[in-house]
Amino acid sequence: MDFAALSPATQARLAKLGIHRAFDLVLHLPLRYEDETHLYRIADAPLGEPVLVEATVTSVEKQFKPRKQLIARVKDASGTLNVRLIHFYPSQAQQLTPGNTVRLYGEIRRGYFGDEMVHPKIRVGGEEKSLNDALTPVYPTTSGLNQNTLTKLIHMALRHTPQPETLPPALLDELGLPGFAQSVALLHAPPPDIARVLLTERIHPAWRRIKFDELLAQQLSLRMAHAVRRERNAPVLAPAGTLAAQLLAALPFPLTGAQTRVVAEINADLAQAHPMQRLLQGDVGAGKTIVAALAACQAIEAGYQVALLAPTEILAEQHFRKLEHWLTPLGVKVVWLAGSLKAKAKREALEAAADGSAQLVCGTHAIFQSKVEFAKLGLALVDEQHRFGVAQRLALRDKAGDMSPHQLMMSATPIPRTLAMSYYADLDVSIIDELPPGRTPIVTKLISEARRDEVIERIAAKVAEGRQVYWVCPLIEESEALQLQTAVDTHEQLAEELEDITVGLLHGRMKPDEKAAIMADFLANRIQVLVATTVIEVGVDVPNASLMVIEHAERMGLSQLHQLRGRVGRGAHASLCVLLYTGPLGDTAKARLKVIFENTDGFEIARQDLQIRGPGELAGVKQSGVPMLRFADLEADADLLDVAREVAETLLATRADIVQQHLDRWLPGREALLRV
Ligand code: ADP
Ligand code: MG
Repeated sequence: MDFAALSPATQARLAKLGIHRAFDLVLHLPLRYEDETHLYRIADAPLGEPVLVEATVTSVEKQFKPRKQLIARVKDASGTLNVRLIHFYPSQAQQLTPGNTVRLYGEIRRGYFGDEMVHPKIRVGGEEKSLNDALTPVYPTTSGLNQNTLTKLIHMALRHTPQPETLPPALLDELGLPGFAQSVALLHAPPPDIARVLLTERIHPAWRRIKFDELLAQQLSLRMAHAVRRERNAPVLAPAGTLAAQLLAALPFPLTGAQTRVVAEINADLAQAHPMQRLLQGDVGAGKTIVAALAACQAIEAGYQVALLAPTEILAEQHFRKLEHWLTPLGVKVVWLAGSLKAKAKREALEAAADGSAQLVCGTHAIFQSKVEFAKLGLALVDEQHRFGVAQRLALRDKAGDMSPHQLMMSATPIPRTLAMSYYADLDVSIIDELPPGRTPIVTKLISEARRDEVIERIAAKVAEGRQVYWVCPLIEESEALQLQTAVDTHEQLAEELEDITVGLLHGRMKPDEKAAIMADFLANRIQVLVATTVIEVGVDVPNASLMVIEHAERMGLSQLHQLRGRVGRGAHASLCVLLYTGPLGDTAKARLKVIFENTDGFEIARQDLQIRGPGELAGVKQSGVPMLRFADLEADADLLDVAREVAETLLATRADIVQQHLDRWLPGREALLRV
């Protein structure tokens, strides 16, 4: 098939569907199927599922009020049926002329005036018309490209595009999977006797073959990206470890076993001559910052600079303060680089980065993307990795000239195993699976907004005990101004309700020095109740705060709630998180609040979140730069994912020819990913 010979308009429409060549048509698989292989008698047709009937029109009536509709009565030997069209074309009215025999495809429903079909597909009927001998595929399409045209193009591509097998027959045998050409042929034109549920549930071996291929392509490309990275150069950071030892000696606590283990994993990577790309995972409060600081010590002692990037200025500044507190006494120059700095201070910070005198530079990724030049960048620490995408990873790499810096990415949003194995498979992963000792579990309560008074009483009681409180205002995505207003109002109201208690306010629109002043007051317990927008979502650390109230919890994402909740339970005091909700709640909202109420383990929460929302919505996946899966479902097809991973390893080691062919088929033009 000559794809280039299609009209430019058709090509443009196909491009919208991600179809750029004939083979993409072969891989454009049906969304669902319609069954027009079998005629039902009206009386026997099951209700509520699409069926095909043939009947004669006995009467027709057009109504114009209360709205324009056409109601036809049709009958076959077994019974009668009403056909209702709301808004109809003259051609449709024509088809439903009394006396005509028509084929109707649609769902029959029990209506007030008898059984009816609303908006069926209508075709000319009659004995001489044959039935389809296969299920009719319905393809995802786009405006200007109808099913018929698309179907024809796909069938043309199927006939004229070679579909050589990319997998060794022995492997297919072993996995019990059918051949590729056989599978696509079946999915585009299933035989009439096939059990429909196998297709609709996508569990037919042909579907499994396609999903396996897709997962395999993803695994291959990720493993290759990993291999390409190993060929790039990075500075070997393997000093004696004096600086890190000094930092450890100065800490008021020993590392946990898990922290010690991941520090060793990181140090082993830093000592290699190719760039580390390691994801440091640990639930909220697991103690990732000190691990990052110890990695920084290695780079600095080896004579290199370190950059620390955080998604928000508040978080970047908090890291800056902590690292400055830890490292300045050891003679390390730590620099704060914020977009909001005064011109002179900013210029000095930039100069210090460029001449190499700044050994550790903290800032937001916005800053790093554009302005900063480093004399000798050896390590980049990226906090809350899920907020950064491939573009930032690339930009960061380019800061270091022909040497790539090592990268340590931290994330408190645990990535479920299946996701880690797919979308993040090019990263090495270290997990801190143990919280520092002495933490008290956080009790979570779901309380209706109607019982707000009780919550206020509880706040007063906590403060009387000497504890501190966060009050988080709802996220209002449509309008930052509105969110701000809510926070301001809540602050006023709480200040009134809680006499003799200092209530502070923190929101995203405040100037950085105002924010810093408020945080400093809260940390010093000069403020007892802090009303905040979700700016405190990540990383804020005030151990004396032991009550968190989250307003309109039903509006927030699960991982966000988990992160917010993690702001308490950091000290030795029993901690409470109150999720205030405003009813009535929909089913999804209920299911989600139940998850957060019942679970404290971030991994379990992320897993259930994945189930409720699907990977596309999960933080970070869209930005991960890894092609989205079209057919495979990470949870449902986890078994295939395991196999695909193993097979990818074997093929990469033994069959370069197959690997190339398979990738050309599934992921043409993915070179950009391989550069990351
Ligand atoms: P996160 O992993 O969420 O970034 P942090 O690094 O902010 O967590 O650490 C949370 C708190 O725990 C901080 O106050 C930190 O100093 C403290 N901490 C970290 N490691 C330990 C440890 N091994 N023992 C006791 N406290 C620790
Ligand atoms: Mg942190």
